[in-house]
Amino acid sequence: MNEKEYLQQVATRAGLQHYPQQGPWGGKSGSAMGTRDGYVMVVGFRRDRRGANVMILLRFKKLEQPELVKSAVKSVTIKKGKLSAVGNDFLRWEWKYSFTKPKAEEVAKLAENLRTAIKPVTTGFDGRCEQCASTSTPSLTLMNGLPTYICAGCQEKVRLELNQAAVNYEAITPNYPNGLVLGIGAAALGGLAWGLVAYAINYIFLYGAILIGYFVAAGVLKGTGKVTRFGQIIIPILTVASVLFGDAIFYTLIVMKDQHVPFSGKLLKVIVVHLWEIESKGSSGVLSLVFGLVGAGYALYSERKPKFQAVFQPLGAPNA
Ligand SMILES: [Zn+2]
Repeated sequence: MNEKEYLQQVATRAGLQHYPQQGPWGGKSGSAMGTRDGYVMVVGFRRDRRGANVMILLRFKKLEQPELVKSAVKSVTIKKGKLSAVGNDFLRWEWKYSFTKPKAEEVAKLAENLRTAIKPVTTGFDGRCEQCASTSTPSLTLMNGLPTYICAGCQEKVRLELNQAAVNYEAITPNYPNGLVLGIGAAALGGLAWGLVAYAINYIFLYGAILIGYFVAAGVLKGTGKVTRFGQIIIPILTVASVLFGDAIFYTLIVMKDQHVPFSGKLLKVIVVHLWEIESKGSSGVLSLVFGLVGAGYALYSERKPKFQAVFQPLGAPNA
């Protein structure tokens, strides 16, 4: 059974409707969504590095103490899947599976059980807008994929606020010197750590390059105050430099040990001058560089500009 058919089955059994291409977790198969007794319910699929999950999301009226929801769920022992997160207006449950999806009726039943469990400590929606709590809002609207009761007026307000946030972000004057100083500092520290760790374990730990990439990116971003072209250019350069510096330290330490010579600036200089020769002899030298670049790529991706955008979509109209 493919995901679409599966979600259709879950929807039928749970009293929801299946909406292809829509829902909080993306994907073509979409989600089963709807409202039961005032509670917004969503069932869909989410894939991450660790595997595939059937996701269940329940939404209720905003409350002060989400801990109550947590303990309410924990008090009923549910053995299928696990609690993934609780917020002040939602509960998310994930059911990890390897090859065969859990039975549709079991998922529907689980969603129902979760709703029953939190019912004593939560309140369902009552056909009014969640934000202003006054305008009559009978149908759900997807806000960036999340089914919400939000009136037209509040949608406009959210849009304006996000536009303002985007304008404010644009207005930040980036501090380039600070970014450069913190970036170089991070690269130096990262390189030193890389060299020392490599020496300690007698092995160049390539994934360290990715960590360095993150570290350098964090330093540059903290210094400049925002994502800039300048940062996007110096982050990869500093990351690669940091990895090479780390390698130089590693080889210096090796030479010191093998030749029984103390550390000196002269020795480090010799190593740095001949670094390329040394690197190109072994396979790990080139690999270091490649991983350094991968690290920089990751870093750039993680430090891309924040998105200030709210997309509102009616249910059942994925292209609206
Ligand atoms: Zn409203």
